[in-house]
Amino acid sequence: MESLDELLQQADVAHGHLCAGQILGVRMATLACRMLGIEQPRGADRKRLVCFVEIDRCATDAIGLVTGCRLGRRALKFRDWGKMAATFIDLASNRALRVVALESSRELARARFPQVEPSSAQQKLAYRSLADDELFAAQWVRVELPSEEMPGYKGARVQCAQCGEGVNFGRYQAHRQADGAVRLLCRSCAQPELRYWQPL
Ligand SMILES: [Zn+2]
Ligand SMILES: [Zn+2]
Repeated sequence: MESLDELLQQADVAHGHLCAGQILGVRMATLACRMLGIEQPRGADRKRLVCFVEIDRCATDAIGLVTGCRLGRRALKFRDWGKMAATFIDLASNRALRVVALESSRELARARFPQVEPSSAQQKLAYRSLADDELFAAQWVRVELPSEEMPGYKGARVQCAQCGEGVNFGRYQAHRQADGAVRLLCRSCAQPELRYWQPL
């Protein structure tokens, strides 16, 4: 694996700036790779990792950069929980590690570098230099990953019986009608109240 400096340089270019979130994300992902024994997540080991991220912020880009897990490869899964946390699953060993940034790390940044202003600079310095266990809590976990969640999953596309749009990866719901017939509906038609868009 590349050095922290090399990875931060790449994260800076990919993300557009080098913020505290980039440093935290790079450190989080490198810690996970190290604990999982994955040395080349973007090279020889590129098919081993699936990553669940729990926030859509700066650190998420850095996690994607280090691990090579991308939404478009289905190796990056987003759970909108607003937490600076991610779970790294090694498909080769069937082990998974959840890493969360400790709330105490901000306090520690202030205590360790009281002379550094502004607080963004203080955080950047702290996130570079604090020990892994000062920044993160890591926990071995189990993640059930059904076959349709796997990056290379190939499944039949279903056409929604109501809107006619194609639905991949089993993301449809079966609805039994009064006459007993079963209709396959996309999520948007099955639960319009959960739709994120409304027609104008
Ligand atoms: Zn940023
Ligand atoms: Zn539909």
